[in-house]
Amino acid sequence: MLGSVPVRQDLPDDMAAWVVHEPGPAAGHPLRRKTLPVPQLSLGEILVRVLVCAVCRTDLHLAEGDLAPKSPDTVPGHEVVGEVVAVADDVVGFEYGQRVGIAWLRWTCGRCHYCQRGAENLCPASRYTGWDADGGYAEYAAVPADYAYPLPTGYSDDELAPLLCAGIIGYRALRRAALPPGGRLGVYGFGASAHLATQVAIAEGATVHVLTRAGGARELALSLGAASAGQAYDSPPEPLDAAILFAPVGDLVPVALEALDAGGTLAIAGIHLSDIPELNYQRHLFRERQVRSVTANTRTDGREFLDFVATHHVHVTTTPYAFAAADQALADLAADRVAGAALLRIGSAGHG
Ligand SMILES: [Zn+2]
Ligand SMILES: [Zn+2]
Repeated sequence: MLGSVPVRQDLPDDMAAWVVHEPGPAAGHPLRRKTLPVPQLSLGEILVRVLVCAVCRTDLHLAEGDLAPKSPDTVPGHEVVGEVVAVADDVVGFEYGQRVGIAWLRWTCGRCHYCQRGAENLCPASRYTGWDADGGYAEYAAVPADYAYPLPTGYSDDELAPLLCAGIIGYRALRRAALPPGGRLGVYGFGASAHLATQVAIAEGATVHVLTRAGGARELALSLGAASAGQAYDSPPEPLDAAILFAPVGDLVPVALEALDAGGTLAIAGIHLSDIPELNYQRHLFRERQVRSVTANTRTDGREFLDFVATHHVHVTTTPYAFAAADQALADLAADRVAGAALLRIGSAGHG
């Protein structure tokens, strides 16, 4: 429905972007810089000038080919903080200049039995930003307004960006881990998502044990209030009521299951996981231990999490990169050289 959408005069025709040109190891620079037309709005959409886009491990999986591209030369990036620069005629609730977030989930059918029962994260027709449609490694990005998030005050653009996937997915993973009130939580891997979910759990009264290979991440965990921090394959100092596996390492599934107390739940947070080794029923599952996956998130998860951080300040550790260094950010994430969340600084607010 082009032509029905008023676009402000001062928008350029073209923009700078990064695309996944040929998936391969991050060290081999699978991203390519490209000039693309500024996205045209369809009905129901808003156009956002991208200020910051955080770098998610899913971007890495796409760039490296662990997740098959939906189409060639897709712009990755689904943790976008930007300002609204155009609004389709039929959109209500968003204003020019408003700071908004664009996240991973960008469309669901609303009619299938998953959508009908509040599990839109499982909708078979769902679409994702930076995979089914161009994302935020670009100067502009369009999104259906129903899937954009108003953002809380009290945080910088840099701090907000990682909340939009790392934060929301971590929050859903924590809920899927079914941690009882005041319970003991194990966190395996301590990147962007884990460091946010850990703070939510601690704010809710949990005791958190972090198990991760990177020494800097263990220090960060302790500084954020974790009760202990050990190596990825260590045993935690006490049995766990629940655990979340953030590291995309299937070898850690039996390790985490063995660390669970009877009745405990392991939630696997990643979209991609290396193979899980053979499990032994007695050692890993008996006594009602459970293992669960986490698939994307619902908009309700997103709103609940953003409401939580609006009232409980979380510390967001970021490693910023210039827009021109997007491929370096991915390579650093692949090599575990990033503290907290990597992010790309793309634009600045209020310029036209
Ligand atoms: Zn559906
Ligand atoms: Zn993500």
